Amino acid sequence: MDFLRPMTWADALAVKAERPEALPVQGGTDVMVEINFDVHRPGALLDLNRVRELAEWEQADGRLRVGAGVPYTRLIAELGDRLPGLAQASRTVGSPQIRNRGTVGGNLGAASPAGDTHPALLAGDAVIEVESAARGVRMIPVTDFYLGVKRNALEPDELIRAFWSAPAAGPQYFSKIGTRNAMVIAVCSFALALHPAERRVGTGVGSAAPTPRRATAAEEFLSGELDWDGRGPLAVSLSKRFGELVKEAAAPIDDVRGTADYRRHALSVMARRTLTWAWNDYRARIPGEEAS
Ligand SMILES: Cc1cc2nc3c(=O)[nH]c(=O)nc-3n(C[C@H](O)[C@H](O)[C@H](O)COP(=O)(O)OP(=O)(O)OC[C@H]3O[C@@H](n4cnc5c(N)ncnc54)[C@H](O)[C@@H]3O)c2cc1C
Repeated sequence: MDFLRPMTWADALAVKAERPEALPVQGGTDVMVEINFDVHRPGALLDLNRVRELAEWEQADGRLRVGAGVPYTRLIAELGDRLPGLAQASRTVGSPQIRNRGTVGGNLGAASPAGDTHPALLAGDAVIEVESAARGVRMIPVTDFYLGVKRNALEPDELIRAFWSAPAAGPQYFSKIGTRNAMVIAVCSFALALHPAERRVGTGVGSAAPTPRRATAAEEFLSGELDWDGRGPLAVSLSKRFGELVKEAAAPIDDVRGTADYRRHALSVMARRTLTWAWNDYRARIPGEEAS
């Protein structure tokens, strides 16, 4: 197996163009497990760890551009205030060791329906920046990034450069159900983001369909019904209906981690809970604060 170690982003793209079968490795927390278990044995590994650009983030024109190689530990510490939903999701990934190495780029590359960052990226309207030497940059809305179970929109000669997301302008929450509290693949998960300036709600459903997905009907219903200006208490009927619509958006299966019925039920509970937390936060904030 060849081990390719480009020093720069331009070199990495050139290597990927020349060796499209080379498997990128960032933290290696998915890649090395699969190699150890002989799931597949790539002809070459493309190690991205020396590419410094991938480990950087910046804020430009009001949007965050986070390099694909920024590990969870840094995302939580450095961006937790600006991307609270994604930081919450990151805190639930594996263990401290996994969070020190693992990255959002790797979660996107693996494109597992159970990956923890996907619901938060969906709720926050993230855009994935990918690039190839031949065709340059493509900006892919995260809703279009997931194509099937462990399949994403990357072409063989493309690499993930970064994800883009606006800093949170309202409350964001992530919730995950596992068979224990840590080191566990999600039975199912849910993320919610309030976008008060646009009077809009974002959602993301994880581990309950072949791909992570938004609960679009639930978003539309809630966006139209919430008392954005009056900030009154949340009606029980509203959160209940929201939970039902989230549940209807899922297409789960029975597997070793849980039944489809359990997943649907759990999603409706997580939807109601995250909405209650987010709405309580919104009500407690000073009007106008969210628009800043
Ligand atoms: C013990 C353990 C616990 C775990 N717990 C969780 C958990 O709770 N939640 C969860 O979501 N995941 C979990 N994982 C899976 C894994 O840690 C995550 O998916 C992590 O985000 C992968 O990031 P990485 O940088 O290590 O990716 P890598 O293993 O380096 O790569 C993963 C995939 O992405 C591709 N890739 C990486 N970078 C790029 C790039 N820049 N461009 C194109 N493709 C790229 C690789 O080729 C590979 O297909 C766990 C893994 C282990 C071993």
